[in-house]
Amino acid sequence: MKINIIGGGPAGLYFAILMKKANQANDITVYERNGPDDTFGWGVVFSGKTLRNLREADAESHSEITREFEAWDNVDVVRRDEKISVHGNSFSGVSRLQLLKILQRRAEELGVAIRFRSEINDIESLRSDCHLLVGADGINSTVRQSFAERFGPDLSVRSNRYIWYGTNQLFHGLTLTFRENEAGVFSAHSYKFNQTTSTFIVECDPQTWERTELATMNEDDTRAYVEQVFAADLQGRPLLSNKSKWINFILVKNARWAFANVVLMGDALHTAHFSIGSGTKLAMEDAIALANSFQRHNDVSGALLEFESTRKPYIEEYQAAALESMLWFENVRQYLHLSPMELAYSLMMRSGRVDHEELKKRDAAFVAAYEKATS
Ligand SMILES: Cc1cc2nc3c(=O)[nH]c(=O)nc-3n(C[C@H](O)[C@H](O)[C@H](O)COP(=O)(O)OP(=O)(O)OC[C@H]3O[C@@H](n4cnc5c(N)ncnc54)[C@H](O)[C@@H]3O)c2cc1C
Repeated sequence: MKINIIGGGPAGLYFAILMKKANQANDITVYERNGPDDTFGWGVVFSGKTLRNLREADAESHSEITREFEAWDNVDVVRRDEKISVHGNSFSGVSRLQLLKILQRRAEELGVAIRFRSEINDIESLRSDCHLLVGADGINSTVRQSFAERFGPDLSVRSNRYIWYGTNQLFHGLTLTFRENEAGVFSAHSYKFNQTTSTFIVECDPQTWERTELATMNEDDTRAYVEQVFAADLQGRPLLSNKSKWINFILVKNARWAFANVVLMGDALHTAHFSIGSGTKLAMEDAIALANSFQRHNDVSGALLEFESTRKPYIEEYQAAALESMLWFENVRQYLHLSPMELAYSLMMRSGRVDHEELKKRDAAFVAAYEKATS
């Protein structure tokens, strides 16, 4: 089968690996607009369960990825200079660039052709030249836009702004920090993803945004402003910018996932708010699900139909949980009167995926302390 994949992010590369592994005769080309070492952002997070899925799908890349990992089990909530730790949450962080390098290497080793620095605008000619065209081209997907009437995309631009920095200040565990200044409230999501670097994502609501001059500040002034807001947490270490800009989160859904020989996957198909850290996980698990569908169906239309009908309910459930989490952060002001302990409890419950009993299983000491403090 001839497969053209637009986008060499985690979704496109991982799908290429799995399809080439399944059948060496598959002729697979990945078209990527960037070079092999260009990337945006810093680290990404995986849960223990996702790692098991990756091991099952491809033990070789799994063992390389886990060699690069920083693992932790605590969520730390920092409020009013008090830190509350909740344990029993198994997560790992890895640099996005490292992850992409591992996947690129593995794909090329297997015989996938990766055409770097190839920006694709003429989707139709690539589509007519293959049995399967995959749109793994990220949140601003050209494939989705080119066939918008087929996919029925629904894009919702959210009101909060966020910016994705790195820092050499090490946050051991997923650290959620809330700081206020004269403009309003800023929330930071940070975690260490290698021995020297942490991801540091900052978000604020539109009221806070409007009371700052961030809209007109250049990159250096913006960084200096955010460093000042989180001075106590960064302890004098600078934020690292990678052309970092304030943006609004876009919630992506599509009414239909495929037509004829074209299918979307990863961020092109769906997004989930970064506060539940699952964009890369979902992208790679899409690749697993789509490759598995091709194991069960020889024909493209049968495989695409199965992919959509089996994966869509799962994604909808995930997006519903991510929506609750996103709404919590959008409405953070209404939780700031809580004590740090109550705030930590509310955060752990925010997506609806963890209830009181589940939290007790994860960290009985935290729940006992919470019950004592609130009784
Ligand atoms: C602030 C922030 C924090 C995040 N934190 C996490 C996290 O902690 N954990 C996590 O798992 N995920 C996180 N994510 C999400 C994660 O980055 C994405 O969900 C994930 O990268 C999706 O993978 P993908 O392969 O679908 O798309 P992408 O990684 O976006 O890859 C798409 C690729 O397609 C290429 N491309 C696009 N258009 C074209 C074209 N026309 N021609 C050729 N190439 C093209 C792009 O250059 C890109 O390389 C975060 C995202 C943000 C914004």
